[in-house]
Amino acid sequence: MMLDYQSLLLALGVSAACLMVTLFGTWFSRRADSFLLTLVISLFLIVAGIAAYSSFTAQSGIAPAAIAYALLMCGFSTIYAASVQFRTGSSPWRLAGVLSFVSLALGMPLILVGLNGLGLIIMNVLTAILLVGTGCQYWTARKEAPGPLVGMVVLYCISGFSFALCAAVLIADGRLSLKEAPTNWAEDLNIGICIAGMTGIGALSLALHQWRMAAIHRHEAMTDALTGLLNRRALFDQYGGRKLNASTAVIVFDIDRFKTINDRFGHSAGDEVLKLFAQDMMAEMVPAASAARLGGEEFAMVVGEVMPGRAERIANAVRMRFAARDIVIDGKLVRCTVSAGVSVGLPEGQPFEAVLNLADGALYEAKRAGRDRVEIASYLRSIPPSPDSRTSA
Ligand code: GH3
Ligand code: MG
Ligand code: MG
Repeated sequence: MMLDYQSLLLALGVSAACLMVTLFGTWFSRRADSFLLTLVISLFLIVAGIAAYSSFTAQSGIAPAAIAYALLMCGFSTIYAASVQFRTGSSPWRLAGVLSFVSLALGMPLILVGLNGLGLIIMNVLTAILLVGTGCQYWTARKEAPGPLVGMVVLYCISGFSFALCAAVLIADGRLSLKEAPTNWAEDLNIGICIAGMTGIGALSLALHQWRMAAIHRHEAMTDALTGLLNRRALFDQYGGRKLNASTAVIVFDIDRFKTINDRFGHSAGDEVLKLFAQDMMAEMVPAASAARLGGEEFAMVVGEVMPGRAERIANAVRMRFAARDIVIDGKLVRCTVSAGVSVGLPEGQPFEAVLNLADGALYEAKRAGRDRVEIASYLRSIPPSPDSRTSA
């Protein structure tokens, strides 16, 4: 029986070590998600703790028990800290340090004075709390990737309960001091669950990492890197081919004589001006709106659910905010203006592209009329009414 338990411990240690290497490789390939590195460190502590516990089961004594207790408690504290790091993005080391310190303070003195039975009860209870707590952290974050995260919650909680069972059996046994490592059905069940849980959690952690990376790539593909606004592709993904309702307006902006900024001050100064303009657009955004950089110095805003006149006011607010900006380039004060075309209040069911074209036409009018102004597209002038609308009018 003893040998069996030892081989199970060995299996657990080996699977934890393999998982540690895999997670390290995954983290190393793109060092973005440092919660994986925190997991690697916690697994390192746990593998070392399993080795120490294994030597405690072979030849009981105060030193191996104390070392196993210290390593395992630090390992499980770090696992919990990794879950908080995953959820909040904060650095895990302070939390891991505090939890490790508290758990060492609670159990280590007992083990050192020979009350290893009581020490093991405390270790099992604290591990159960930390694992269920870890499950709770992933549960809170489940919206990000429901599949892998709910799977991890279940596995962490089952593992946590198996440690609670070990504690319950030791409490029922009632011995404060043990001559050798406990062997009972709860310990066997616990180690089986830990081997299965570890493998499952490892696979799900990798899935979670891939999920997160895919989301980052999706976001990058949809974002204009210079301004942080949506890019053209994202705007057309959202609205392209869709029929807009009558209360949706499209505003197109084009910075006036932008080429002269580049020519006078250089391309990077031009880039700064583009970023400032994007900020001004964001400052005037309303809730049901999307702002995008169409390319170069051209931008668009789609505003849903607007009352008549509202889109024009938004366009003018952006124009005035930008014109009022004191832009300092190379110590010189530079003023920039923008022109805008608005198309709004079209009959129900016009496709997005048609509304955008109308706004573009109005923008052209604004440029022709002298720039630094907002023009409204005239629907009736631009599109001849269809026979249907003529009869219904
Ligand atoms: P208008 O008032 O008629 O709009 O004149 P304009 O100079 O703004 O228009 P034009 O289309 O002639 O020039 C646009 C310039 O924008 C040309 C191009 O070099 C510059 N440009 C396009 N993309 C970028 C960019 O990403 N960064 C910078 N700095 N300049 C860009
Ligand atoms: Mg242009
Ligand atoms: Mg321009």
